[in-house]
Amino acid sequence: MERLIVEEFEEKIAESVRRIMESLPPEVTLVAAVKGRSVAEVRAAIEAGVIHVGHNYIQEAELMVDLMRDNAKWHMIGHLQRNKAKKAVLLFDMIETVDSWRLVMELDKRCARMAKTMPVLIEVNSGREASKTGVMPEDVEGLVWHMRELEHLSVQGLMTMGPRFGDPEHARPFFQETRKAFDRLARMDLPHVSMRYLSMGMTNSYRVAIEEGANMVRIGTKIFGQRGSEG
Ligand SMILES: *Cc1c(COP(=O)(O)O)cnc(C)c1O
Repeated sequence: MERLIVEEFEEKIAESVRRIMESLPPEVTLVAAVKGRSVAEVRAAIEAGVIHVGHNYIQEAELMVDLMRDNAKWHMIGHLQRNKAKKAVLLFDMIETVDSWRLVMELDKRCARMAKTMPVLIEVNSGREASKTGVMPEDVEGLVWHMRELEHLSVQGLMTMGPRFGDPEHARPFFQETRKAFDRLARMDLPHVSMRYLSMGMTNSYRVAIEEGANMVRIGTKIFGQRGSEG
């Protein structure tokens, strides 16, 4: 598609994407976190070279995936409710936020009906905060062990949030904890489990996350700027 007029915001997004991609080690995959962003913003990021796009909300994702399905790989990075599992299986190429056996069973059932195998990451509640989603670090092995016989889910790694604001050094112990769980699972060498992706780190913390072994980072603000609600 020929575009004669490039808007200023598109130019800024393209520049940010280029800077980030240049600074990432080659083995690290960039996932653009696009909650609250417009189709035009996400399209600009994809045109600048973003391949993986992460969504938090099914409804927002639907429109974009409809318009640009073949232009990117779509990741679910927000909390997934069981009653949205069917939609999620239709929309996404990877679900990064699997955090309960009930959700696992529902996703496996939906994938089976669509004759599909879904790559998933297990979300780890590395801060052990009751208010946060994710599986407690000590429960991750048990969950993945039970998943080893499921034909339609392929466990490909772990994801964690960690603290979003503040000194990125505060996130380091959370990343280390998640990395340890990742290594333990890799040593278990279970069927339908191949530990390939460690998804951790956001705008303020991705450098620390990479130092601690992340090979997938989810970045929003640094690509698109502050979201409206954050002023
Ligand atoms: C918003 C979000 C990100 C990106 O956060 P930024 O600070 O904007 O880079 C990453 N992961 C998840 C799950 C998010 O919701």
